[in-house]
Amino acid sequence: MIRYHHTPPPLGVAPPRQIGLPRVPGTALTRATALPLQRDVGNRKVTTAVLQRAAQDSARPVPDPTVDQDSAEGYFAAQDAIRAFQQQLWTVRNYQLPTGWGNFDLTYCPVSQQVRVDIRYAVTFADPADPSVWADHLKAAARAEIERSIQQVWGRVVGTFWCQQPWWEHLRAELKVRIVEDDATPHCRITVYQDGRNSEAYAVSQRNRANETEIHISVGDLADRQFRIDPQTRTAKDVTSELGFPPRIPEGADPEDYLTCPVVAHEFGHAGPGLPDVYRGREDDGWMRAWHNQASFDDFQQLVQQEMGRKPERRNDRRVMSHGNVATLDDLLPFLLALQEATGLDWGERKQPAREAPVCLP
Ligand SMILES: [Zn+2]
Repeated sequence: MIRYHHTPPPLGVAPPRQIGLPRVPGTALTRATALPLQRDVGNRKVTTAVLQRAAQDSARPVPDPTVDQDSAEGYFAAQDAIRAFQQQLWTVRNYQLPTGWGNFDLTYCPVSQQVRVDIRYAVTFADPADPSVWADHLKAAARAEIERSIQQVWGRVVGTFWCQQPWWEHLRAELKVRIVEDDATPHCRITVYQDGRNSEAYAVSQRNRANETEIHISVGDLADRQFRIDPQTRTAKDVTSELGFPPRIPEGADPEDYLTCPVVAHEFGHAGPGLPDVYRGREDDGWMRAWHNQASFDDFQQLVQQEMGRKPERRNDRRVMSHGNVATLDDLLPFLLALQEATGLDWGERKQPAREAPVCLP
């Protein structure tokens, strides 16, 4: 028989931060908030686990840093921790990236191995000088356009994360992103202005007093814009008005030279997931540099490198945070970080090879 035990680290001494050690976990779900979630998960085991779960602290996977994870003791301790971990849902609310951007909820269900991101947005209409311009049918059309723009990019995002901890390698998280309009408890608020096509759309990454991030957009920005890439300078030019409205690529032109940018989806990428701009601008220009938020990009680049092992570049291309409408693997970084925060475990994009259990038969 193999004996093993958990020895807590001395009080006041945090275990060293290294790969394979747990992160600080987020809070577990309460019964009330778990009920709507489990309807989606549709698993009776989840119901039982949530209703009967032990104190959440005792279930948190905290491996003993003094135990060799390759030893039999480490192996059996991990099996115990995995069993405890599977007794509940793990969640983080109003997650914000280390860059100070973003606002969303995430919940991981170890039984179904699904992780769900929830982003709720509210739409408000700024008071126009002439109240008649916001007729009900125009508001409805604006809401529909906002929903279409966001869902076509962010509502389709899928991905899989794998647990990186020793003996937890089989644990995966299938990502689903659910975005709904919700005026009562939004993560971000989209304010639509009736001020024509001259005002710039932008997202405010700081949260307001109601804990919401904000997006400011003019009615003209609701329709997709067209950008043309100059092959010489690799700069992008907004040619929407030159092409007419709605924009149409000129006959005989190479459509590859034209990128479609759903402006709302781009701004939503700042306010919801918390991603920075990745397009190229005139870096020598102070105003442009501020607009690009170079500091946030640098932090993002560093985080992607640390967690995903590659370095995103500033480029004018089809990525949604550049001038296009495509969400990429790099755009999953916020959800990966939130999953790590919610579960207290290390996760990554790649499945680690299975290890051989160090158990000797008699
Ligand atoms: Zn932007």
